[in-house]
Amino acid sequence: MSEFLVCPFTETILSAISGRSVVFRVENIEDLRGIRPHANEYSIHIHCIVFTTPTLTAFPLDTIDSDLPIALHASCLGSFPSLLRMLPALRHSNLRVYLPMTHADRFSELRILSSLGIHTAGVFCSDTEDWERVTDLMTYALLGRAPHAPIFPFQYLATRYHPQTRRNWTAVYFDDPATYVHVDAEGHLAFQLEEMKREQFLDLDFSRSGDLTQHPDFLVWQERWKSHFLQNDLCSRCPGWRACSGLFASQCDDGGCRSFFSEFLDCVEQYQARTYPSIGREEIWQP
Ligand code: SF4
Repeated sequence: MSEFLVCPFTETILSAISGRSVVFRVENIEDLRGIRPHANEYSIHIHCIVFTTPTLTAFPLDTIDSDLPIALHASCLGSFPSLLRMLPALRHSNLRVYLPMTHADRFSELRILSSLGIHTAGVFCSDTEDWERVTDLMTYALLGRAPHAPIFPFQYLATRYHPQTRRNWTAVYFDDPATYVHVDAEGHLAFQLEEMKREQFLDLDFSRSGDLTQHPDFLVWQERWKSHFLQNDLCSRCPGWRACSGLFASQCDDGGCRSFFSEFLDCVEQYQARTYPSIGREEIWQP
């Protein structure tokens, strides 16, 4: 069974997920304020809460428990004076700010927040990425000399990447079937959010789902990467394959993703050499 459930916060689902670790998708602020007593009542471990606010500064942070783990999605930062007023609380919160990487201003806002010590994540727009700006942001995130907070997903992958393994960063968005499984209010299951939205549910009842890693759809997902090599497509010859696994295959014709991931791996190498000075010494004998 995947370790974490991702589900909407509704009181009707709580008894069915009792004792589990959960990522709740919360729709309104009253539910967010009252979520902890409900979770405690059903022995649910809150792994994270996904909440969407129009702007970061519109989020009523002062009325929320500061230690609640929140992935806060905002369409933009909001007014700068308001941000400065909420900054001390933001710095002491357990919150990461997710902004869409759709416009030059959002890239600037991600940098500003990071430089102010706020953990952030950029959200890809899923059709056509601005790879030049993504590359600038990634370089700042991994190699920027000025002190700044981590910017995900770059930080996530840079700290986990190893040249001998294949990794990607979908877990940053709670969408990695190896770790997360999505459940809706009716108990339908899906391995990924897009499948859930399209109502492509697993043919399983949640209460009798058992070990999902043995489910045929999970095994199909695990093997999906091989299709790139069977078809001998662009991804199969991409230098960034180990960090991407074809995540952007639908838009790889212009080579933007390929250039980005090549640059990314160079930066990861420098980042790891700086962060872990002992890397590269393993060939000398170890006890
Ligand atoms: S970077 Fe682009 S070409 Fe390379 S593996 Fe990813 S999607 Fe495929």
